[in-house]
Amino acid sequence: MQITEIYRSIQGESSYAGLPCIFVRLTGCNLRCAWCDSEYTFTGGKRMSADEILAAVRAAGAAKLVEITGGEPLLQEREVVPLMVRLLAEGYTVLLETSGERPLARVPQAVVKIVDVKCPASGHGDSFALENLGWLTARDEIKFVVADRADYEFARQFLCRHQLQDRVGSVIFSPAFAKTASGSRDTTHCLLDPRLLTEWLLADQLPVRLGLQLHKFIWDPSTKGV
Ligand code: SF4
Repeated sequence: MQITEIYRSIQGESSYAGLPCIFVRLTGCNLRCAWCDSEYTFTGGKRMSADEILAAVRAAGAAKLVEITGGEPLLQEREVVPLMVRLLAEGYTVLLETSGERPLARVPQAVVKIVDVKCPASGHGDSFALENLGWLTARDEIKFVVADRADYEFARQFLCRHQLQDRVGSVIFSPAFAKTASGSRDTTHCLLDPRLLTEWLLADQLPVRLGLQLHKFIWDPSTKGV
């Protein structure tokens, strides 16, 4: 597999936020989201075998939570699926962050799939593969990164049309973060004020979780490998 980095930090998103986690970040993505903060994963990285990745994960610390992320990890599905099977067999809880554009059919059921539905301001509002809804269970999570009111309306309608709250364990609405953000660790870098998003969620009484990217408030938002 082509790997950008393997490191230990805390999980910054999802219902696992705040827990110690080892990240395996794969290189390459087929999308180009307008607010992407992971452009450094698009190229480069180094070739690693599954054995080498497993050794690096074991060496990264005692945490039994691993996130497979990118880039888009499912671009390397042929190799990353067997890796996830081996991590599960070693007793890890495995999270998979994926854009929702790649098929989920071959992802092991025991993997916690954290699936983006891209909203229009990302530039990929039509990228979600609807057949993926059939592969999601109460173990999984769906995330909308929201940059403005139009994104919020898109996400709200998608949620209601597909009754997402009955399909997955968590539906997360998260304000988009400016990809050039650096310096202060506060909400001024959010493209949509979290307070405004919260007010909309409460007004509409949506059955969703507000998500903030914890790592952006702990470290300088431009810091990598955290
Ligand atoms: S899918 Fe993820 S890694 Fe790819 S461009 Fe979008 S935000 Fe960046």
